[in-house]
Amino acid sequence: GRSRSDGTERDPLTGALSRAWLDDVLAEQVAAARETGRPLSVAVLDLDYFKSVNDAYGHRRGDRVLRALVERLQANIRRTDRLFRIGGDEFVLVLPGTSAAQASAIAARLLAEVETMPFEGDPPLTLSLSLGIATFPDDAETPNALLDIADRRRFAAKRAGRGRALTREGVVLPAS
Ligand code: C2E
Ligand code: C2E
Repeated sequence: GRSRSDGTERDPLTGALSRAWLDDVLAEQVAAARETGRPLSVAVLDLDYFKSVNDAYGHRRGDRVLRALVERLQANIRRTDRLFRIGGDEFVLVLPGTSAAQASAIAARLLAEVETMPFEGDPPLTLSLSLGIATFPDDAETPNALLDIADRRRFAAKRAGRGRALTREGVVLPAS
């Protein structure tokens, strides 16, 4: 459905913003960042081994995990930060006014928030996240290039062992 508050459509399963709006919001935020000279960070994230949750416990359990994940993420970001669901367990976070160093603080908190508390159910499941983060203007100056770089860093975070984020400044592990 449509949310009255921001006029953007939400993903019915999780309540995250729909992928359809990502291009518009990102273009708007990049333009705003260029105008104000403030930074902007974009994170692409997913759950590690989410497919095996679906395979082992069924899609209903998988859906419950995704809903709980979005609740946890939303509770730990600012109202001005936007969370989009762009695929099965793939999400994009748009972080206005956020430098690479500030995005690292956010990533450390989100990594800890997800992996230190199991997802409720039988059995409880401990899952981790991988994130890739790109920052305007240091990494790139267009929406697509920012998304590409963030996505490549997410893959690099996976290859490097999962449960971590990668920014232009290096690796970020869960906050303790
Ligand atoms: P911190 O948690 O180490 O965050 C450092 C900086 O990273 C923040 O500086 C902010 O620029 C950025 N940042 C961290 N988390 C987020 C986020 O979820 N969204 C966005 N857009 N940016 C984020 P800032 O704003 O000067 O805050 C300094 C410190 O004040 C923070 O250090 C934190 O300890 C505290 N703080 C600020 N706002 C909140 C809040 O809403 N809740 C909590 N629990 N602490 C806050
Ligand atoms: P909000 O700005 O929408 O932030 C929602 C939640 O995101 C916060 O819940 C916190 O879990 C996380 N968060 C956002 N920014 C930061 C940050 O810089 N550092 C850390 N560690 N966490 C962050 P929380 O803490 O329950 O705060 C609820 C609301 O209270 C915030 O909503 C904000 O409106 C206000 N608030 C809390 N602490 C501060 C602060 O230090 N400065 C300002 N200006 N507002 C704050």
